[in-house]
Amino acid sequence: MKLARRLDRIPPYLFVEISRKIAAKKAQGIEVISFGIGDPDIPTPPHVVERLRETALDAPNHRYPETDGLPEFRQAAADWYQRRFGISLNADNEVLSLIGAKEGIGHAALCFLDPGDVALVPDPGYPVYSVGTWFAGGECHWMPLQEENGWLPDLEAIPEEVARAAKVMWLNYPNNPTGAIAEADYFRQVVEFASRYDIAVLHDASYTEVAFDGYKPSSFLQTPGAMEVGMEFHSLSKSYNMTGWRLGVAAGNADMIDALMVVKSNLDSGVPQAIQYMGIEALKDPLDAIDERNAIYQRRRDRVVETLRDIGLHVDPPKAGLYVWARIPHGYTSAQVAESLLEQCDIVVTPGNGYGAYGEGYIRLTLTIDDEDMERGLQRLADWKLPPPEGS
Ligand SMILES: *Cc1c(COP(=O)(O)O)cnc(C)c1O
Repeated sequence: MKLARRLDRIPPYLFVEISRKIAAKKAQGIEVISFGIGDPDIPTPPHVVERLRETALDAPNHRYPETDGLPEFRQAAADWYQRRFGISLNADNEVLSLIGAKEGIGHAALCFLDPGDVALVPDPGYPVYSVGTWFAGGECHWMPLQEENGWLPDLEAIPEEVARAAKVMWLNYPNNPTGAIAEADYFRQVVEFASRYDIAVLHDASYTEVAFDGYKPSSFLQTPGAMEVGMEFHSLSKSYNMTGWRLGVAAGNADMIDALMVVKSNLDSGVPQAIQYMGIEALKDPLDAIDERNAIYQRRRDRVVETLRDIGLHVDPPKAGLYVWARIPHGYTSAQVAESLLEQCDIVVTPGNGYGAYGEGYIRLTLTIDDEDMERGLQRLADWKLPPPEGS
């Protein structure tokens, strides 16, 4: 058997090695507390699950769905965009249902990239942007995200010839893993840049509904001109604690949505209809229904930030998202710190370099652990002493 070479390019999945070590610890009866994967511990709202129970019994929902999604679901998503961001979307050709945002992000690469084409990809970043690019045969031009630039790609730093060659630019705000946000003015610069070089902007908006301190993240599509150059991916996973149900939305430029529809209709057959009914139910909730949930994450954020600062790490409290991104002391690598935390405290954190070379020097902690485990984890962290750097 000969596997395709494209698989050789894929770095080992970030959590595989960590999972192996956790399993080894568990086999010894040791309790490991994981600040690793961002997967909401808070259940899906009960009325949303109830809608699944009801619609699961309807025979029409047992058959193939339409790839582009139930018209009612697309309309619910368009109405939600109107209420939440004040944007009018045509549910017929500017909205598409996705089997989670990840599916749309991966497939979008096939819409824009031929072998050898260039994608502008943030580093650090959610791995699907680069992996999708490679699967399509494309090449990544990395856009460094750095603290001094507020974790926003420096558009000026993209060489002229790269900008001219590039076909897509991936962005993600609120950002995973850095917790950064983008203001309207930055999005305006992105639209200007994309128009100048004829680049499709693909914005991953998975975290717009997880925000703190009264902050309301905006949609890239609110930017004047964005509908001409871009498409946005939204996910019900983080917004409504629905990671297990696999439901997302693509919204934006009609030609881009159509291209994604062509790819999808040839590779998958859409989202099970009963799941889309869950989405309709969730999307019609009052917008402030998620405030209580966000208050839980905010309280956890404050505890994590406080503890990390107490042990001497530099951290800015994020305004949005599910992660705290902490700078580690000089003289250590992200992997050494993550390793030391696992070995000495039985705590899992994600090493920043797992999201790209520019993530080196940071670790990421998720806020999706229940309060009790989190407190025990933070206690271990508070008692932790980083061993002296190697060679000192
Ligand atoms: C969690 C996450 C996704 C995936 O969302 P699904 O809808 O569950 O596929 C996409 N992008 C980012 C940045 C994420 O963190």
